[in-house]
Amino acid sequence: MVKQTIQIFSRIKPSKKTTAVYSVDNDEPTGAFLEFLVPRDQAEGFVNNKRECYKFRFLKVFDQAVKQEEIFTHIAKPVADSVLAGYNGTIFAYGQTGSGKTFTITGGAERYSDRGIIPRTLSYLFQRFSQDSSMIYTTHISYLEIYNEMGYDLLDSRHEASRLEDLPKVLIMEDPDQNIHLRNLSLQQSANEEEALNLLFLGDTNRMIAETPMNQASTRSHCIFTVHVCRREPGSATLRRSKLHLVDLAGSDRVSKTGLTGQLLTEAKYINLSLHYLEQVIIALSEKSRSHIPYRNSMLTSVLRDSLGGNCMTTMIATIAVDKRNLDESISTCRFAQRVALIKNEAMLNEELDPALLIARLKREIQSLKEELAMLTGEQRDEQLTGEEIQRLEVLVKAFLEDPDPDVTLSMGPDMRKIQHCFSLLKIMIMGKQSAGNRHSDGEASPGNTVAVIQNSPCSAAEMTKLKEMMTQRDNEISILVKMLKREKKRFQDTGDQLANTPNGQSPASQSALRPAAGPPSREGSLDSIPANHGGQAIQMKKRDPQLSMGKQEAFETFMRDHEDRVTVEHNRELLKQRSAEARRIGEKLSEAKNRINELKKQLALQRRQRAALSVTENCPEVEAEVDPVEENLCKHIEQEKKFYKSSIGVLKALRTEIEHLQLLLERAKVKLQRDFHKWWGLEASSVQCEPCSL
Ligand code: ADP
Ligand code: MG
Repeated sequence: MVKQTIQIFSRIKPSKKTTAVYSVDNDEPTGAFLEFLVPRDQAEGFVNNKRECYKFRFLKVFDQAVKQEEIFTHIAKPVADSVLAGYNGTIFAYGQTGSGKTFTITGGAERYSDRGIIPRTLSYLFQRFSQDSSMIYTTHISYLEIYNEMGYDLLDSRHEASRLEDLPKVLIMEDPDQNIHLRNLSLQQSANEEEALNLLFLGDTNRMIAETPMNQASTRSHCIFTVHVCRREPGSATLRRSKLHLVDLAGSDRVSKTGLTGQLLTEAKYINLSLHYLEQVIIALSEKSRSHIPYRNSMLTSVLRDSLGGNCMTTMIATIAVDKRNLDESISTCRFAQRVALIKNEAMLNEELDPALLIARLKREIQSLKEELAMLTGEQRDEQLTGEEIQRLEVLVKAFLEDPDPDVTLSMGPDMRKIQHCFSLLKIMIMGKQSAGNRHSDGEASPGNTVAVIQNSPCSAAEMTKLKEMMTQRDNEISILVKMLKREKKRFQDTGDQLANTPNGQSPASQSALRPAAGPPSREGSLDSIPANHGGQAIQMKKRDPQLSMGKQEAFETFMRDHEDRVTVEHNRELLKQRSAEARRIGEKLSEAKNRINELKKQLALQRRQRAALSVTENCPEVEAEVDPVEENLCKHIEQEKKFYKSSIGVLKALRTEIEHLQLLLERAKVKLQRDFHKWWGLEASSVQCEPCSL
């Protein structure tokens, strides 16, 4: 067990405005300090004890210039390492709206270098899995959003979520041992970094689409991205399970701005009720005498129960915006962090026995012990095997061959007749397979070949299941698309009718907005050219009936041209093009290097053969033992080429990750643009409707 207090860090968001007076001291041996100076006149009304200087201790304070990479290395990597070792881990960001919580946890939506803790941690974890071949790792991901005490599953891809309420609702359940279970929260397996990243983007897209000005989900909801890691040694029944929660909390903003109004800072209330309950839990945990901790008061504290005073290694990042007007919120955030730092957690290795694996192992053990016993007692049988016994043996042999598990054994008991019968069955099958292989290479089909059937069936069964899954997936996609198309069409008709019913057709304002800048509409701004490889349910801009869609299509292009994100999108598209070209170039170089290595290897083999032949024909064996400069040179060349090949592979891998990330960023930008456009379009349509009334 590892006892550890919650580790607190603070990160200061870059500011272009006049900042409050603050200083950062990271050189103290006992930790780092963040100090704010409050002007005396403000301090009068600001707090009752008229302090001027507020000093807070953190493990480390990351000032404005610190980049995402450093945040990952100092904060997230140690937590990821303990998750790899089998402990639970949590990192949560706390701070007022706009202080950089989402930027720190998920990352910026524009640049690859701005990717935050989640994508970097996923990359790190999968890299470590691939380096450790002695273990089998499996990873599952869940992504939960809590808004107004209700949980929503962000990883649901079956729904076309246009509102938060469309997403599946997650319910909290407690078992008799008071363990928390989340019903309806999907756990998606991800085999590699790419799949995990896709899930993150799917969740973020759902989070973005579901947000409306009414629910302001991104500032008032909490998002918990969880990576579930399971680690097992091959053949062992012991598992290590660990969970990593990466939490982007709601903005910690208080109801009333304190300070100048003279209201006491401590009296201010959170806008978000569940943050109030979180504070209650933290106060209770930091006071030694309290025996009851009110976890059950809110969904957030129930879900994070282990992370707060439980079985988990927890880290908090206090995000701070140091603009002058944020001074009171910054001090609140730091005060909260100081309380959090008092909480002690007790993390344990989450080791457990997999009952299914254990039972199978014990059954095997019992069986082999029984056989040993029978061997020792020397029990012999003379009679022939019965038809039933033969049949059972055939089933056993078939199951043995079909089981892909390398640990599977063929146990037929301590009976020599049975052992011999199984061997002859295997022989027949192998011989059958060889002849089937020959016939197959002759271009003949091999009907009725038992071995081929037995050998191939596990593979084709797996393929069949995969194909079936793909078909169901495609069916789902098709029905979603058809539904979307119908809805779009209906919406067009509705809007078309409304426009037709308006006396002037369009308001002057909308006319100017709909008019193309000059000449024919430019295709440049069209999002059709943005690559879309992401499996999420982004709304696709379909080619529409020209009569219905012309106006809207034109409006979309005009809208696109003036949109603030356009420069970023263009920039990322250009970058993606460059990176793809670069990847192609390196790919070509790689294949050239491979050809060269093969050629050099051939030359080396030839050279060796010639020297061997020479030593024989000239009857001079020492020729072969001498160092041959040609051979040496060839070996050196091969080594050089191999080195180049390896380093190029590394570059190509890094490029691939960057390309995938850029594609996902573009996809997200596309969804955002479309959403903004629809919002704008709705506003335009309603203003057109209102025009005649005001006349
Ligand atoms: P929050 O999630 O706390 O409300 P955001 O993470 O959305 O805040 O940050 C608000 C804005 O500030 C975003 O545009 C974000 O990109 C930017 N931002 C935040 N932190 C940083 C940083 N360290 N460097 C650059 N930009 C940042
Ligand atoms: Mg945010």
